Amino acid sequence: MQLEFLGTGSGQPSKFRNVASIALKLLDERNAVWLFDVGEATQHQILRTTIRPRKIEKIFISHLHGDHIFGLPGLLSSRSFQGADKTEPLTIYGPKGLKHFVQAALRVSETHLSYPVKYVDIQEGVIFEDATFRVVAAPMKHRIETWGFRVEEKDHPGELLVDKLQADQIPAGPVYGQLKAGKTVTLADGRQVNGQDYIGPAQKGRIVTIIYDTRPNQHIVDLARHADVLVHESTYGISDEEFKMARAHGHSTSADAARVAREARVGKLILTHLSARYVGVLLKKLIQDVRRIFPNTYVARDFDVVDIPFKKDLHES
Ligand SMILES: [Zn+2]
Repeated sequence: MQLEFLGTGSGQPSKFRNVASIALKLLDERNAVWLFDVGEATQHQILRTTIRPRKIEKIFISHLHGDHIFGLPGLLSSRSFQGADKTEPLTIYGPKGLKHFVQAALRVSETHLSYPVKYVDIQEGVIFEDATFRVVAAPMKHRIETWGFRVEEKDHPGELLVDKLQADQIPAGPVYGQLKAGKTVTLADGRQVNGQDYIGPAQKGRIVTIIYDTRPNQHIVDLARHADVLVHESTYGISDEEFKMARAHGHSTSADAARVAREARVGKLILTHLSARYVGVLLKKLIQDVRRIFPNTYVARDFDVVDIPFKKDLHES
């Protein structure tokens, strides 16, 4: 599980920061990539990564401001020519109106996709769930309908302790499958063996929370609770003047993001959606200021790849 930042700027593209897009790479977990927002030229950014557009299984859109969606029609169109599976639908989750935007762009440009697209209007709560993942959405406080996302990987069941089975002279065979399922079985020699005694600890699933444009609100803390990684917008810096600007425009400051990270007890905070003016000394100062509130904070740059490892020993807590 990895995050790859495709665009980390706010509002309009700048030389070093394209507009919003993040890839959650779930290649080991489900051989798929999920995108969160698709700002203009996201497909150009993808060209500079190892991401294959045909692997994009789901796209989540936080809100309909242009810097978060203008790349979507182009990306969908190009994906038709990049070996997309013609039978597997791509699912796009977004606010009401997103389907209208995409379909209008495709219709007037006479673009025909080679694969089906499924649109899901986001409503508060669980918006996707299968055997391995769950995605929860909650409303944010921006100038238009906006959603925040929490991606939860389900816990992995423990491994079968083969060494221990062999040490206890339990011969390999179909019985291992039953023991792995936690069943009690009777061996050929008459011994009764409980599978629970031969299964290692379960591995806690990982949690990633992605928060784009919003004023601070309680839903962010709920979505971010104990997340391994919280990605949070940081359109404005820490000064009083920027605080006023953030509130006026429906945004957060970097200090707001850090306070959420602290309250929700996340593992790591990654700031994105930064103004182009944060370079050099200003950027250094911003990072220093934020780390005073939440030390494990990083500022994303375009093309940063962040590993999200399993937590160690969490099964003991
Ligand atoms: Zn916005």
